[in-house]
Amino acid sequence: MKTWVYIDHFKGEVQAASWEALGLGKTFGAVTAVVLGAGVDAAAQAAFEYGADEVIVVDDASLADYRAEPFASTLSALASSSTPDLILFPTTARTRELSAMCAVDLNSGVLTDVSALSVDGDKVTVTRPIYEGKVLEKAVCEARPQLITLRGRAFPKPARESGRAGALTKVEAKADAKSTVEGYSATEAAVNIGDAAVVVSGGRGVSNNPALGLDEKATAQKGFELIGELASLLGGAVGASRAAVDGGYITYAHQVGQTGKVVAPDLYIAAGISGAIQHLVGMRNAKLIVAINKDAEAPIFTQARYGVVGDLFAIVPALTAAMKKKLGK
Ligand SMILES: Cc1cc2nc3c(=O)[nH]c(=O)nc-3n(C[C@H](O)[C@H](O)[C@H](O)COP(=O)(O)OP(=O)(O)OC[C@H]3O[C@@H](n4cnc5c(N)ncnc54)[C@H](O)[C@@H]3O)c2cc1C
Repeated sequence: MKTWVYIDHFKGEVQAASWEALGLGKTFGAVTAVVLGAGVDAAAQAAFEYGADEVIVVDDASLADYRAEPFASTLSALASSSTPDLILFPTTARTRELSAMCAVDLNSGVLTDVSALSVDGDKVTVTRPIYEGKVLEKAVCEARPQLITLRGRAFPKPARESGRAGALTKVEAKADAKSTVEGYSATEAAVNIGDAAVVVSGGRGVSNNPALGLDEKATAQKGFELIGELASLLGGAVGASRAAVDGGYITYAHQVGQTGKVVAPDLYIAAGISGAIQHLVGMRNAKLIVAINKDAEAPIFTQARYGVVGDLFAIVPALTAAMKKKLGK
């Protein structure tokens, strides 16, 4: 099985899920990483260190900024001449677009959001959640190359082997870019709940503490402060329900769920979140779910391994204090 892995990065900073894809590729043989960009030597070296046997690099100023057209035409041209059987992508906003465009160029297909994959000889079988995660679909891929985007944190990240080397293939860029990027606004770039091992999320409940005597938004800010303290103590990220985002308590980049991000951390703590299906589809693959809610009947408790019935304004700081003690911080 000739397997390629597309290494997704922003200005050379690689999305950790690319290494998960590389680790998966390694489980069924030699794997080739493909790195497109400008000044991407460090990313290429990291690909070797995470297990790539070959790295194909197209390093050119015209690829300094991701745009779908030049990246898709470059990757498609490489795949047309080298004919891999599989091209694996980590799932990111960029790769959703890129994989779809390459599938069109290569007259092939893309299977998205794959959470399990097995290779038996020539037979490639994938599993992926459909219908908001209610059903797991198993599909056998006939197309070649088969393009596959992998669900973040569904596959283990391999250990990095410092100084590991392999075959480096440099290819000239022939991309004809019709657009240029003028700049980036960094407003929401810092939040990456998809990669976090711990996510502590707040819902509408963060705005419910009459004892503070504050208005709804100011109360919610206090609530998210408590959630942020717990998240940073645990080295995690802050998530939110849509009600919290719609209420203007926190920005959309934090939203977990059907219309937000899908997360699969080791630990997910839901505070003041009822557990609507649209929220659950975004977090129910977390390894350990802890719910804090005033209402013992809240549906979130059906998903939680541990549940605390109580006021998050009391429980969250108590948890932070207990964890501080336990971690010696
Ligand atoms: C098409 C569509 C897409 C959607 N996409 C998403 C999505 O991506 N993500 C998402 O989250 N939702 C999504 N929703 C919205 C979803 O249906 C719910 O409305 C939303 O998840 C509710 O958020 P919540 O649990 O924070 O609020 P609520 O349902 O209002 O729950 C608040 C909870 O907080 C508890 N509570 C209140 N005060 C406290 C306190 N002081 N301490 C502890 N607990 C307290 C209450 O008991 C309650 O259970 C979507 C809806 C639709 C129709």
